[in-house]
Amino acid sequence: MHYIVDVGGGEETVPCLPILIILLALIVAYIVLYLIQRFSGNKKVVRVCDYCGRAVSAVSECHHAPVYEKGGKYFCSICRKRTSIICPNCKRPLH
Ligand SMILES: [Zn+2]
Ligand SMILES: [Zn+2]
Repeated sequence: MHYIVDVGGGEETVPCLPILIILLALIVAYIVLYLIQRFSGNKKVVRVCDYCGRAVSAVSECHHAPVYEKGGKYFCSICRKRTSIICPNCKRPLH
């Protein structure tokens, strides 16, 4: 009797384990992605240029370097100072 109960219980738990592992992996992947997004300060600032008519990654007016956004303001990635953003192709100001 005992032997039959043990086998039945073993068969029930085995299919559940891979699902739990996949769920755990998904949760961990989600948390890691969230943390990367939150702490990566150098996110590209993409704007549509009025003159080129297409989406461009904005650069700083002072060093023509990539910029990062913080509290609605733009900062140069080289000198870390507040800057206005320009189009990398036509060097005209972006909004
Ligand atoms: Zn442009
Ligand atoms: Zn600069």
